[in-house]
Amino acid sequence: MNIVLLGAPGAGKGTQAVKIEEKFFLTHISTGDMFRANIKDGTEIGKLAKTYIDAGKLVPDGVTCEIVKESLKKVKGGYLLDGFPRNLFQAEELDKFANIDLCLNLEVDTSLLLDRICGRRMCHCGATYHVSTLGGKTTCERCGKPLYQREDDNPQTVKARLATYEDQTAPLKNYYLAENKLATVDCGAKSPDEVFKMVCAVLEKFNK
Ligand code: AMP
Repeated sequence: MNIVLLGAPGAGKGTQAVKIEEKFFLTHISTGDMFRANIKDGTEIGKLAKTYIDAGKLVPDGVTCEIVKESLKKVKGGYLLDGFPRNLFQAEELDKFANIDLCLNLEVDTSLLLDRICGRRMCHCGATYHVSTLGGKTTCERCGKPLYQREDDNPQTVKARLATYEDQTAPLKNYYLAENKLATVDCGAKSPDEVFKMVCAVLEKFNK
């Protein structure tokens, strides 16, 4: 089963992806994580990506499609694409080198997202928290490592990321709808576990 995970920044794609990969034995491929790893390692791709990421814009399609294409070559079995495709061009390119079975769309009220993203704290193990529920804790409940805040989780960049999403990524819902591959989970203000139950219901039905 090859899945595209779609959703606005802060919709909970990363959180759900960690749970989905564990339960359904899929390889989780996140373009955002790949860019951040390149930035950390100081590669040419990292240097290029940083200027776009800091501005809340999309990294150019050529570089982005190439890293996804290369990483899919190494994957055995099903995978979960998190953060790719992010525009129509990428979706069309993806269809040339992959067979996508399903687009799982996490639908959220975008008015909730600014606060949600700016209060977000991450762990390198993939776990995500919100400051309001941490009670002052600064380490990960799952692995004990220190939490950090993403550089692009600041109000100015988040506003730009949300605009980029509405403008370029949200239209992909219609793209996958037209291919009869769209499944939408309405997340509302539900907890990650409640959302995961709905996600499992969709994936189990689909997997039969
Ligand atoms: P994410 O971790 O998915 O929120 O991605 C963080 C940032 O990486 C985005 O705001 C973009 O600047 C960049 N990025 C991630 N995925 C893509 C993609 N598919 N196309 C272009 N830029 C991307």
